[in-house]
Amino acid sequence: MATRVIPPRILRNLRYNTATRPLNAAHPPLSAPSVAPPYLLDKPDPTHQKPPSPAAADADSILNFDNVEKLFSHVATSKLLRSSAVLHATAVDPVVDFGMWLMKSKVMEVNLLKQPVLSAVRHTFYEHFCAGEDAVTAGESIRALNQAGLRGMLVYGVEDANDNDACDRNHNGFLHTVDVSRSLPPSSVSFVIVKITAICPMRLLERVSDLLRWQQKDPSFNLPWKRDTLPLFSESSPLYHTRKRPEPLSPEEEHEFELAIQRMQELCQKCVQNNIPLMVDAEHTSVQPAIDYFTYSSAILYNRDNNPIVFGTIQTYLKDAKERLLLATKAAEERGIPMGFKLVRGAYMSSERSLATSLGFASPIHDNIQATHKCFNDCSSFLLEKIADGPGAVVLATHNVESGKLAAAKAYELGMGKVNHKLEFAQLHGMSEALSFALSNAGFQVSKYMPFGPVETVMPYLLRRAEENRGILAASGFDRQLMRKELNRRLTAAVF
Ligand SMILES: Cc1cc2nc3c(=O)[nH]c(=O)nc-3n(C[C@H](O)[C@H](O)[C@H](O)COP(=O)(O)OP(=O)(O)OC[C@H]3O[C@@H](n4cnc5c(N)ncnc54)[C@H](O)[C@@H]3O)c2cc1C
Repeated sequence: MATRVIPPRILRNLRYNTATRPLNAAHPPLSAPSVAPPYLLDKPDPTHQKPPSPAAADADSILNFDNVEKLFSHVATSKLLRSSAVLHATAVDPVVDFGMWLMKSKVMEVNLLKQPVLSAVRHTFYEHFCAGEDAVTAGESIRALNQAGLRGMLVYGVEDANDNDACDRNHNGFLHTVDVSRSLPPSSVSFVIVKITAICPMRLLERVSDLLRWQQKDPSFNLPWKRDTLPLFSESSPLYHTRKRPEPLSPEEEHEFELAIQRMQELCQKCVQNNIPLMVDAEHTSVQPAIDYFTYSSAILYNRDNNPIVFGTIQTYLKDAKERLLLATKAAEERGIPMGFKLVRGAYMSSERSLATSLGFASPIHDNIQATHKCFNDCSSFLLEKIADGPGAVVLATHNVESGKLAAAKAYELGMGKVNHKLEFAQLHGMSEALSFALSNAGFQVSKYMPFGPVETVMPYLLRRAEENRGILAASGFDRQLMRKELNRRLTAAVF
């Protein structure tokens, strides 16, 4: 089915205004203090504080960062020391530069030199940011995390695929990840992650994205292979990647694309059988239309009965993010499809900006960081209101303490806590431990995004992320400061 464009007038009416609703005005029956909050019934845990009444809840009082003893009570001193050292190192640009140079250099081609380098990486950065080299070790990391009150998102760390053999190998890895999740304690794995760029060849994702963009420009453009989907674009979506009318898919391309769709469907079916949600990561705008197409066409088939199995990702650094989110949510609502979304700011800012500049177009990224923050917080508020009232679920994937506080306050206002899979906060493994524990102590579900796989496979993937995300590594200052405070406290009290 072709995606229909919603006229700007209707879109304007769809726009929400978070400022019009006072903090404690919504949903009195859900937020009545006399009723035990569902998350307390869900999993009694004496270490979790009972939330203040919604009327008293404000952004600053919900998350407690002052009590560092409580914040890091689940973290051993040795781990705290290593985390502090690794975060210090990754906040220094030349260290990241050297790491990237080393992993890409000829040194890694000489076995005698490669092994000591990999060993050093394994015991420092890798152990800090990754869940383990294989599924068994990743499982152990998840168990440990779960004992600390957190959950894991299992990420099989693979590279983008260029051919069908690589797609098949990666696909088997993703299927195996679902098996591993099933073998772990119930609810300790919140999501299995899939990267569509690993199960469909990149050039095909580019071709399909071009064709979808052209159809957005010219709705009469026929795409015979296209299945039912939710809207992929808004009126403000940039279409500059596709300058001329693309050739239709050749029979071979159509066959290859069908194979990729089948991989996705097999994965969805396995997730349905095991009742484990599948999160689709977002990537560059050059291939994102095709990725969203995989997500939405699968969600239509597998998200049923208020149980979203397939979750999509919205990158709120994109200027069209809010409008696309509104259109997809509205279409899903009208069709009775419970939709799950992960909100992120976005990880490919520098490459997006340079691509747009090289083609002579305005950047698709918000002009300044404040606009990105606003977009993230607006979309978060919008989705929280949606799920408090109806079907669907949201994952707020952020290290930003302000966004965490605002969302926590909004969720309290709406009377939400540990309610099934409806609301999950998420941070990368090894990042923002303080925020993760503060949110968990306040009663929310929190997951860590945990890549696993051999050091040699996962490190290039992590370094690429590090290159794009220098900002977040450098911004670990708040965490480092709290860790230092707790280390000093333990040293003074001689607690080890
Ligand atoms: C669990 C999890 C899953 C993730 N999955 C994905 C994914 O699927 N796809 C993806 O793309 N990313 C993903 N990310 C990464 C994410 O997009 C961010 O790169 C990262 O989390 C930093 O954003 P933050 O919300 O933590 O905010 P902050 O710590 O506040 O970081 C803000 C960063 O945003 C950047 N930024 C954004 N917009 C602007 C702007 N307009 N001007 C200047 N700087 C700007 C800056 O570099 C700054 O460092 C994921 C992150 C997590 C925690």
